[in-house]
Amino acid sequence: MSQEIAFRADLHCHSTYSDGTLSPREILELAKNLQLSGLSITDHDSAAAYPNVFTEAEKLEIKMIPGVEFSAMHKGTSVHILGYSFQIAHPSISSLSEKHKQRRKERNALMLNKLKQMGMPILESELHSLHSIGRPHIAQAMLNRGYVTSISEAFNKYLGDNKPCYIKGTPIEVQETLDAIHQANGLAFIAHPHLAKDISFVRELLKMPFDGLECYYARFPKTDHQRWLKLAKEKSLLICGGSDFHGDIKPGIALGSSWIDQEAFQHLWTHYQNNR
Ligand code: AMP
Ligand code: ZN
Ligand code: FE
Ligand code: FE
Repeated sequence: MSQEIAFRADLHCHSTYSDGTLSPREILELAKNLQLSGLSITDHDSAAAYPNVFTEAEKLEIKMIPGVEFSAMHKGTSVHILGYSFQIAHPSISSLSEKHKQRRKERNALMLNKLKQMGMPILESELHSLHSIGRPHIAQAMLNRGYVTSISEAFNKYLGDNKPCYIKGTPIEVQETLDAIHQANGLAFIAHPHLAKDISFVRELLKMPFDGLECYYARFPKTDHQRWLKLAKEKSLLICGGSDFHGDIKPGIALGSSWIDQEAFQHLWTHYQNNR
């Protein structure tokens, strides 16, 4: 007797278009092996994995929706915003993405400069990504050069928020990010509220026109999920969730280790079908 496999959709992971170590195709193959039914690749500040990846997804019978994880700032604090089911070719997405590319270029140069001053030179040509380059690429280059013995050491000592080689960079506001996602008829979610400094910060963000909240996130206990599900219900928000898988650069976080069920996925899927 064959057993029905429960529907699971992992809507948060990173590919070689940002700081993940697997290509979109390799992520899809892994998703198939893990028997996931739904997927979204949410690269930092880039939707460049789309539309190419859709053909492969259809072949593997995985329901895929477009996704992106935009970096934003609210009153000096970093906020990650997940956008889903938007029109992939819409200029509002590509122009915000280009703006981030420029922001990252300037910021990376400043961070490399700080490292140089501390006796750890790294060339820009040592940072590899198909689109968005950031701190994990710098951490990897530091590891390759032998300046540190692990990626986490690079963050803990030098690159983490407010560490000596950290640069905030030109802020891009939450409202601007929400506008770009909505202009492309997408849905905007607060990513990993579990990592926010407190719930009042999340409530303050929710005064802006968010469509939903990332309620499931890897490595957090069920009690934490309940807290965000309760808030989503109170505010009539949509639910999303996923692992935040990055591949080998972030060991210990497996694809599919966090996911949403068919009911939650259906809202995003229907939205995308009406939007193609
Ligand atoms: P950036 O977009 O350049 O600010 O880099 C942010 C990314 O760095 C995050 O999305 C994570 O993938 C990674 N990151 C942040 N903090 C750490 C940490 N302490 N250890 C490992 N990776 C981290
Ligand atoms: Zn990342
Ligand atoms: Fe994030
Ligand atoms: Fe992420």
